Amino acid sequence: MSTPHRYAQPALRRPRKLQLATNAGLAPGAGSGIGIRGVEVVQAIQSVDNSVRLIADKPAVVRLYLDPASVASASLVTGELAWRRDGGGMTYLPAMNRVKVKPTKRPTLDEQRFDIDLSINFRLPQEALKAGELELFVRRLSVPAGADIPIATPVQFKVRFHSAPVLRVRAIGLRYKSLTTPGTFVSPEAIHFMYLKSYLQRAYPVAAVEWSQLVVDADLIAPPFPANASDLANAQLSALRAREISSGVDPRTHYYGLVDNDRGKEGCFMRGSAAYDVKRGIFGLVASGPTGVPNGWTGDTDASFADWYGAHELGHTFQRRHPGFPLGTQPPDPEEKSFPYPDGLITTRPGNRFVGLDIGDPSLPTAMRALPGELHHDVMTYADSQWLSAYTYEAILNRLLDEEVRLAP
Ligand SMILES: [Zn+2]
Repeated sequence: MSTPHRYAQPALRRPRKLQLATNAGLAPGAGSGIGIRGVEVVQAIQSVDNSVRLIADKPAVVRLYLDPASVASASLVTGELAWRRDGGGMTYLPAMNRVKVKPTKRPTLDEQRFDIDLSINFRLPQEALKAGELELFVRRLSVPAGADIPIATPVQFKVRFHSAPVLRVRAIGLRYKSLTTPGTFVSPEAIHFMYLKSYLQRAYPVAAVEWSQLVVDADLIAPPFPANASDLANAQLSALRAREISSGVDPRTHYYGLVDNDRGKEGCFMRGSAAYDVKRGIFGLVASGPTGVPNGWTGDTDASFADWYGAHELGHTFQRRHPGFPLGTQPPDPEEKSFPYPDGLITTRPGNRFVGLDIGDPSLPTAMRALPGELHHDVMTYADSQWLSAYTYEAILNRLLDEEVRLAP
């Protein structure tokens, strides 16, 4: 193996010398430079060693964790990331934020991963996200608008972005006659469609959602909804889907029915389900579920529960099954033999390998935040605060890749 020619090396800006005069407050501990505990490239869920597949063109944030034990006095720290594709020229990317580092307050790596404000974050630009290999370099940390801070061990690594199919969803609002106000109808408001679409874009292993929506009259259901109401809703959707696919809709399109809970009125909550072929032991591409305002239900304080509820039912349409959490509440599916995390969480314990990231959506609005693996549960459980674990994320990606070819028109 030959050593690369020295001029083949990237021309990186060299860290300037530590200027103590303007570098008020921060000097490296033990004179060796500031330590970096880890760097993660996150889209929805990631492990500390970046093992979860990255999706091309899906928004991504690089999170850098400083070692607070390596600083001698409190300071704000920010930084710059350098990246390049295919051995090309370097591009420099400033951090989105700054982090206060104090030698007296030393968060653990887990505490840093659990709080988006405790990592130095970089939002990768579109050009950095294309399919293929991305090289990342952390060689410059600094006091904001101040001097560079020497780094104990500069970081350099590669990640790969994988092409993923789009997620095709046709969302159907099912309108029904009001139980309490004769002559009026109940149908989901636009905000529920928005929340579901946004959640799928943020949490599912896809860069894009090919989305369409409409509201139709429910043919087979009326409140008070019986226990099998969603089976009837799914029967209507299956017939609609069959008609639409024969007239040109992409056969890879998953259909999801939204049934509003009429502001929580008695008898108006339709429990969700996905169509299931018992003989073949597989789910169909049709599911339905309730929508409404959660008012804190299951730890959800935003304007709609259509999002995670729909992501669960659609998860079934990608052949995801119930892992059986919380124990005693969700009967485990005997076909689900490999769910790897305790209590339905999205991380391992002990070890806390994974942390979630909700990149946020200014149109809802919802802010970017870290999702502590110890407090969030896999979307296929019945537990609170749901997100996709790496297990479910990777499995849905595999199924999407499979359907992309097998169900192609
Ligand atoms: Zn379910």
